[in-house]
Amino acid sequence: MTANPEPVLSLDDVHAYYGHSHVLHGVSLDLFGGEVVTLLGRNGAGKTTTMRSIVGVVPPQRGSVVYRGTNIVGRSVHDISEMGIKLVPEDRRVFPTLTVHENLNLARRLAGDRAGNVEEMYDLFPTLDELRSNAGRNLSGGEQQMLSVARVLVQNPDVLLLDEPTEGLAPVIVEDLREAFGDVVSDDVTILLTEQNVKFAFDIADRGYIIDKGEIVFEGSVDEIRSRDRLLEDYLSVSSSELRGEP
Ligand code: ATP
Repeated sequence: MTANPEPVLSLDDVHAYYGHSHVLHGVSLDLFGGEVVTLLGRNGAGKTTTMRSIVGVVPPQRGSVVYRGTNIVGRSVHDISEMGIKLVPEDRRVFPTLTVHENLNLARRLAGDRAGNVEEMYDLFPTLDELRSNAGRNLSGGEQQMLSVARVLVQNPDVLLLDEPTEGLAPVIVEDLREAFGDVVSDDVTILLTEQNVKFAFDIADRGYIIDKGEIVFEGSVDEIRSRDRLLEDYLSVSSSELRGEP
């Protein structure tokens, strides 16, 4: 993949707080068009907060978030979403009383000019096709995750932020998601993915950043990160042999 010279999204020296608690200490990262970039780190390292800062839920107190040439710090969550930056949050908020189909149609209607095709979502996630008439509350965790991702994809995001999509999912469902993401990845969408499941992230991403205590401590290609035992052990608590599937 050839990266464009200008990043689609660029964070520079982002500082974020919850009340008086200083959580992000100058995060800088770039996403180039069509890339899949993973943001990795331990629990509490600041991955979710980075995503919340991008979409305006936890607006940065210092630094900039430049999206296609415009600094979006201070814009509302709604405006940022309308611009085409969409977050699939960790907690899978599907509408419990609406069916799968109603959930997707509602998301599509809310997308305005960006509205995509619901049937394409069923091609991407055949499991959802079989569950069209099932209420959101009756879906398993994995099915809800697929629906949360599909609801955002039907809005044709320009930048897709995926916050720990595999969290709590059975291996077989993780495999389904991996396949679906394989089809989602294209030059038309730029993806930032946070994960505790390092193997899943490495399968999908081109490049990665490692965050620790609210600071980026490493940036490199997935191959580079994968080859650094010390980095994997110190910041991600995994070993390269584990990633290769060895005991
Ligand atoms: P996880 O994998 O556990 O989701 P994370 O890397 O996404 O971890 P964040 O959720 O960004 O980490 O949390 C960063 C820090 O901010 C942690 O110390 C966390 O306790 C704190 N934090 C997160 N959400 C809040 C909140 N709503 N109010 C106060 N502190 C928070």
